[in-house]
Amino acid sequence: MNEALSLTEKDGIYYLFFPRWEKSGMVGHGFSTRLGGISKGPFAYLNLGLKGGDSPENVSKNRKSFLGIWGKQEGDLLYGEQVHGKEVFLVDRDFLDKGSREIPATDALITKERQVLLGAFSADCFLTFFLDPEVPAIGVAHAGWRGTLMGILAGVVEAMNEKFSSKPDALEVLLAPAIGPCCYEVGKEVLELCNASPWSSDTVFYPGIRPGHSFLDLQKTNCNILRKVGIKPANIITNGFCTCCNQDLFYSYRGAKGKATGSHLGIIFLR
Ligand SMILES: [Zn+2]
Repeated sequence: MNEALSLTEKDGIYYLFFPRWEKSGMVGHGFSTRLGGISKGPFAYLNLGLKGGDSPENVSKNRKSFLGIWGKQEGDLLYGEQVHGKEVFLVDRDFLDKGSREIPATDALITKERQVLLGAFSADCFLTFFLDPEVPAIGVAHAGWRGTLMGILAGVVEAMNEKFSSKPDALEVLLAPAIGPCCYEVGKEVLELCNASPWSSDTVFYPGIRPGHSFLDLQKTNCNILRKVGIKPANIITNGFCTCCNQDLFYSYRGAKGKATGSHLGIIFLR
């Protein structure tokens, strides 16, 4: 739809947000860029992920700066292990009492508890944020090609319906910047999973350059899946960024061509 994400700066940290959600006062949310932190070299500057090999001290300082925008701390953040699966995890009061921060074998989290900070990391993969303003309830999902073709976004819609009675036509869904079809030529492994996927007819490919390859449009594919499970087109907020084409602003796993790179963090919580 036409409403766009906005890039903003606070205390030297640059991040993207969706103005309508910010104005609603219902949620705090944001998707980091690579600008504003203290990491060096391939991790420059606002690396928020630990998997790439950056200094944990720098990542911790960056997380403190980013989450501080919303008055949150690193210890408040709940996130999935991110295994390119389709598991959706319910964060409820019982779980919060247990106190672990990384949830194993999970790529999506949902909650209706206020002030619970849900996050996900990415460098090309899609981060998707869900808001049911009626319940209210929220969710976040991480999806690369595997998660997309396994229908993890449909899984979040289903889980929010089952756990919170969220109606799909009330849900608002925000897609963060990810790798665009321009830079995402995929091969046999992806095409084979697509053929076996219940979402194959929703998957958008363009002719590839290398034999046996195609360019995969993750954003259009996920939009098709969301519409199929009842999300109103007007409630799907997309964006025109490709992380690989805009490496001055974003980390890109594919753009790094096998070398180390940093990660973005996307966060959401109910106020
Ligand atoms: Zn691109």
